[in-house]
Amino acid sequence: MAKIDEYIPVVGKSVIDDLKLLAEKLKGRVIQHVNSTAVGGGVAEILNRMIPILKELGVDTRWDLIKGGEQFFEVTKKFHNALHARPEAIFQRDFDIFMETSERNIEEANIYGDIVFIHDPQPIALVKKKSTNKWIWRCHIDVSNPDEQVWKFLMEFIVKYDSAVFSAPAFSRKLPIRQFLISPSIDPISDKNKDLPQETIDSVLQKYNIIRDKPIITQISRFDYLKDPVGVIEAYQQVKKYIDCQLILAGGTAADDPEGARVLEEVRLKSELDKDIHILLLPQNDIEVNALQRASTVIIQKSLREGFGLTVSEALWKAKPVVASHVGGIPLQIKHKFSGLLCHSVDGAAFALKQLLSSPEYAKKLGENGREHIRNNFLLTRHMKDYMLLFLSLFHKEDIVYL
Ligand code: UDP
Repeated sequence: MAKIDEYIPVVGKSVIDDLKLLAEKLKGRVIQHVNSTAVGGGVAEILNRMIPILKELGVDTRWDLIKGGEQFFEVTKKFHNALHARPEAIFQRDFDIFMETSERNIEEANIYGDIVFIHDPQPIALVKKKSTNKWIWRCHIDVSNPDEQVWKFLMEFIVKYDSAVFSAPAFSRKLPIRQFLISPSIDPISDKNKDLPQETIDSVLQKYNIIRDKPIITQISRFDYLKDPVGVIEAYQQVKKYIDCQLILAGGTAADDPEGARVLEEVRLKSELDKDIHILLLPQNDIEVNALQRASTVIIQKSLREGFGLTVSEALWKAKPVVASHVGGIPLQIKHKFSGLLCHSVDGAAFALKQLLSSPEYAKKLGENGREHIRNNFLLTRHMKDYMLLFLSLFHKEDIVYL
């Protein structure tokens, strides 16, 4: 069976028929994605899933990476934080480092796409190579309140693009180019999200010496300040006074994120006296992430800032009750008290966790609602349809796409 048809039992045949129709209209066009890492983080997660399926549909989609050294990624991580409104000291030297690496990439990059799809700020300057092709800047960051200096710097490039894409309505900015709102998605048939046999879940727990003798609270995230792993530990410690439970903080690092090691060190220090806290440094292993999410009683995502937060959709798709911060794209996924609980602080997170751990029926209902919400809004099939409509619109003079 073709891979694309495996989605039919999940989303229905008409959705897949639409995708085939749209793909047909894109025949002959080359779509070139460019970002800065092939593994780690949500962008790589999505591209790894989406590109093979688009290819199968007949859309010539390819993916290239820019190159950068340690200094460049230190700078782009600062930009990332600053755009998310986290205070960062940014100097002219940082912009110079960014431009030095960008100029090298501009010189070396092979741009061949009819549509060049640039993800996030790292490769943004490639647009200097623009000729007759169409360029999209896909921003995965919550830029609703960005550092003005960094935003002004990026604007010099953004205005050269044909269109910009943001993940949530609140992220859109005043721009002289067309903007689209397209939320990210998860792939329901990937190793990360497919159903797993109980033996697989049990063997992953066994591998990490986790015994299921008390409820499990889990956060899966890169070790990043903005994911607030220390805040998660503090919330767990409050809960633990009332309900005996355990905490899993599982994450890896991303090739373009140099902060990970520092954050991991802080997390280890904060948790070393408690045997019920499991800090897991996962290799890129989707089945293990899937198993840990499924083994959990409650999933938490206590981010201080968030682009979209794929981990929330992943948890809800598994019908898990979720406690997550009211930031970035998370409120799109969680309707408070319907498909999860939103929180604004460590105390709020602790309160919500206690509520879910002590009311299993309520927790179950939230998880079930969450799964349907994700099915209707945040699966890969909807995402591919949105992208294909966007691609077609770029070639249409009247800004309207007829199917
Ligand atoms: N992830 C993973 N292993 C890890 C940490 C995260 O596979 O150790 C995955 C996670 O399951 C999700 C993605 O990486 O699919 C993270 O995306 P999200 O939007 O939550 O956050 P980002 O890292 O892009 O800020």
